[in-house]
Amino acid sequence: MRQLKEMPFAVANTVDSVPAPASVVPRLRVGKLCIAVQGATPAELLARAEAAFKDSAFIEFRLDFLAKPAAALPELKTFLARRRDITSIATCRRKSFGGKFTGSLNSELDILLKAAQTGFHIVDLEVESAEQCTRPQLAKFRAALRAAGTSLLISSHDFTRTRRPEGLNQTAQRIAAFEPAFVKVVTTARSLADNLAVLQMIEDQSLTAHVVGIAMGEEGLISRVLSPRAGAAFTFASSAEGAETAPGQVSARTLLDVYRLEQIDQATRIFGVAGNPIAHSLSPLMHSTAFRRENVNAVMLPLKVRSLDDLLTVVRDLPLDGVAITMPLKQEVLPHLANMDPLTARIGACNTLRTGADGKLYGFNTDVAGVVRPLERRMNLQGARILVLGAGGAARAAVFGLVEQGAEVYIVNRTHQKAVALARKAKAHVLRQSLLAKTRFDAIVNTTPCGMAGIKQQLPVKESELNASLIFDMVYTPLETPLLALAKARGLATIGGLEMFVQQGARQFEIWTGKPAPESEMLHVVELELRRRPQ
Ligand code: NAP
Repeated sequence: MRQLKEMPFAVANTVDSVPAPASVVPRLRVGKLCIAVQGATPAELLARAEAAFKDSAFIEFRLDFLAKPAAALPELKTFLARRRDITSIATCRRKSFGGKFTGSLNSELDILLKAAQTGFHIVDLEVESAEQCTRPQLAKFRAALRAAGTSLLISSHDFTRTRRPEGLNQTAQRIAAFEPAFVKVVTTARSLADNLAVLQMIEDQSLTAHVVGIAMGEEGLISRVLSPRAGAAFTFASSAEGAETAPGQVSARTLLDVYRLEQIDQATRIFGVAGNPIAHSLSPLMHSTAFRRENVNAVMLPLKVRSLDDLLTVVRDLPLDGVAITMPLKQEVLPHLANMDPLTARIGACNTLRTGADGKLYGFNTDVAGVVRPLERRMNLQGARILVLGAGGAARAAVFGLVEQGAEVYIVNRTHQKAVALARKAKAHVLRQSLLAKTRFDAIVNTTPCGMAGIKQQLPVKESELNASLIFDMVYTPLETPLLALAKARGLATIGGLEMFVQQGARQFEIWTGKPAPESEMLHVVELELRRRPQ
């Protein structure tokens, strides 16, 4: 069993339990997930704590967000006495160390001590504050905590960067010198690779201490989700979207439902969806739903990518089992592939990476299936006349894929020369916009962003040019785009962009897992999510 300092309770799922001396504190439980709650008033703080309790019984109360933290303690005492099943941390971080408390070191110590006497199980003191204390002051503080049966967590926060693991280990050692119950090292991720440094530090330190390690910021999501697997005592989440206490924090529900925190173990396969921006990608939700439905021990995380090198480092060293690639990385990744299917090579764009058992990267393009499958379910593509509006990345997948299925494909694009170049490569035809009204098609596929929420652009076709029985719009925000509304009003059949999104994701799922994708569940969950989001 590990030798633990001042560890009067059991940390569930992470380390062996340490029976508490019965006279000092009752045995407490610390789960993998601590929900950090804040509020401008005690009422708001307690309402959030009450709401958080249904997701985790381990809650951090950020007292420094209150105008008068000390004045709130009687109310908190009543709350904690009523909710004896909550394990609580009190934090009153001073402004100079990234918190909101404007008082002095003495005031902070006084509030934390009163919090301990109020019934808090753990108090969080910044390492800088610990170092500013005189020896007698710190000794007195710690004796009072012991008398109250409260444990000490000492934390360090770097709001600018993440150092290499050696630097992080030094910080952890600086904290460990005080022999606290918990060592907490928080940094700021500027790259995906920064997560690797934090996870390494956790692996190193968790041999001798209860350690918590997190890289803040959107790029640091990997550390928030995977730190318990690396050996961290727990990780943090917010009580709800919009109630974060630190940059990059995600809500407890997202961490539990989408990132599957409670299911992750050493065997969990990690996938990513890479891009920038990526925070609002529907892929993690869709794939998590599929993984859960098909009993696959896997998770997908959004990866904010600033450079391909950074992504490839994490793919190799985390490692990642596969990645869904979004623009603009689809072309850039090609030289790094050990192999790719022939269509991906011809299109010159890869949207799906799979890491082989040999560690090499294999590339696929499932955007093609995203376009072809919905159409072939509704028509015979052999000899079908299909108009593609646009000649960008999405159009490439559509044109190459449809030509391969034997369709006669026509391209119209705002920049005519780009249509000419694409048509030449894919053996398709080019049309001038002026000829559209006189030409009949079996289907029209819009691959331009026109009609997308937030883009005020005229549609690339007029109503009089909708000379087809089926209109397919790749845009899916909003679900019913202006083009689809126009087509429906004319009694034409339609295909929405969400069907394409799900079809390309379903093929990714199959490539990664070898199992048939649960398409209807995948569609259902992303449609529900889109309807929930403000348009
Ligand atoms: P892209 O590479 O930037 O290409 C955009 C194309 O649209 C270009 O051909 C561009 O013409 C044309 N275009 C842009 N604005 C226009 C306007 N106002 N009028 C006429 N034509 C215009 O983008 P992409 O990656 O192909 O993506 C295009 C759309 O498809 C996006 O809305 C994306 O969300 C959607 N998409 C959906 C899925 C799905 O799963 N449903 C998958 C991929 C993409 P120029 O050549 O003249 O610039």
